[in-house]
Amino acid sequence: MLTSICGINWGDEGKGRMVDLLSEKFDVVCRYQGGNNAGHTVINEKGRFILNLLPSGILRETVVNVMGCGMVIDIKHLCGEMENLREAGIKITPQNLKISDKAIITMPYHVLQDVMEEDRLTKATGKPYGSTRRGISPVYADKYMKKAFRMGELLNPELMYKRLPDILEWKNMTVRAYGFEPVKIEDMIAYFETYGKPLREYICDTGLYLNAANKAGKNIMFEAQLGALRDIDFGIVPYTSSSSTIAAYAPIGAGVPNLKLTNSIGIMKAYSSCVGAGPFTCEYFGEKAERLRELGGEYGAATGRPRRVGPFDAVASRYGIRCQGADEIALTKLDVLDSYEEIEICTHYELDGKIIDEFPFTDVLDECKPVFEKVKGWNCDISACRKKEELPEEALAYIRLLEKLCDCKIKYVSVGAERDAFIEMY
Ligand code: GDP
Ligand code: MG
Repeated sequence: MLTSICGINWGDEGKGRMVDLLSEKFDVVCRYQGGNNAGHTVINEKGRFILNLLPSGILRETVVNVMGCGMVIDIKHLCGEMENLREAGIKITPQNLKISDKAIITMPYHVLQDVMEEDRLTKATGKPYGSTRRGISPVYADKYMKKAFRMGELLNPELMYKRLPDILEWKNMTVRAYGFEPVKIEDMIAYFETYGKPLREYICDTGLYLNAANKAGKNIMFEAQLGALRDIDFGIVPYTSSSSTIAAYAPIGAGVPNLKLTNSIGIMKAYSSCVGAGPFTCEYFGEKAERLRELGGEYGAATGRPRRVGPFDAVASRYGIRCQGADEIALTKLDVLDSYEEIEICTHYELDGKIIDEFPFTDVLDECKPVFEKVKGWNCDISACRKKEELPEEALAYIRLLEKLCDCKIKYVSVGAERDAFIEMY
């Protein structure tokens, strides 16, 4: 079984939480794209964790975790994340963590470049991309320019250090142009020595490992970061991430382009949230936004930024489901809507006086206005419900309406952040 767990919306749908729950039936959990711009919150019997780079399966002793070649890895951040988890009693060894030799290393100068460019954009246009400032877009750019370092190079530092002067000469042309001090070779060597060396024992050909695991009949889960609308090709460019967040990329980003997914589970939120900039058609403002943000605790896990919020957006979600090829949905955070007497849903967009129900190109999106429909809320606490039969009629009707609007089965519904706070619908 090869299952992808991916985001249907703008990210922060609760993927980490669903991976933590569903990984019970899996032997391997693999992150296949993105870097430490991810913030996956998991709450279980071991505590509350925010995972940025490590797969969310790291909290289960039965799971082997893989960081695939599609990832960009800030080695300093990873060393810190591993140390924090170890302090919390989580075991991490080369047996339960495998890092792809082909994964890319995010360098301190990528972080610097990200910050310099967001600041320049802000000054020049007043419209920054809303980057997490963790170096993600510069490091992916370098990957495609073939100027990046890969994790496997840490096993052969002599060669790596020979490559370093030319890479830095090239990078410093950019750094100087922004008016910053050039990056020094000795600082970068010290960086590799300090944060690269401790990771060496985890580095391997994860493609070989995953193929063998698959042959042996193991169940493999692919964990996405962010959501469909942040995908570099299909998302709201340029307000996206710089990687492929979609399920179809999972086998490539994991290191097994020869394997095909068995199924794709889309994680979809019962309302909308969007961290950072870009068009967000169904956005609430003022008191309405404040109320939903507080109820949902919508502050970025990686950055602490307040997230923009709005009601469920059927247009964007349908598009997200299509991009992800989702076979079924896990609907999260339904309990956040407990106190509403009436719940709004964005069913369509209006553009130039016409109703549209397909998600348009980003430029057009700016002109779209949301069309809301109101449904009756359940107005009671559902956080203790564990069976479909225990849900109030209105909550059930809300789930069924979302299924109908999205033309996709909602298999799981979560009603709290803890591992067991969920309902299996089918
Ligand atoms: P991810 O990036 O997709 O993994 O999602 P985040 O962890 O960034 O954001 C989801 C937030 O919602 C986290 O703070 C979770 O603890 C919380 N959460 C997840 N599922 C539920 C739920 O069903 N109800 C409530 N109230 N909170 C949830
Ligand atoms: Mg998140």
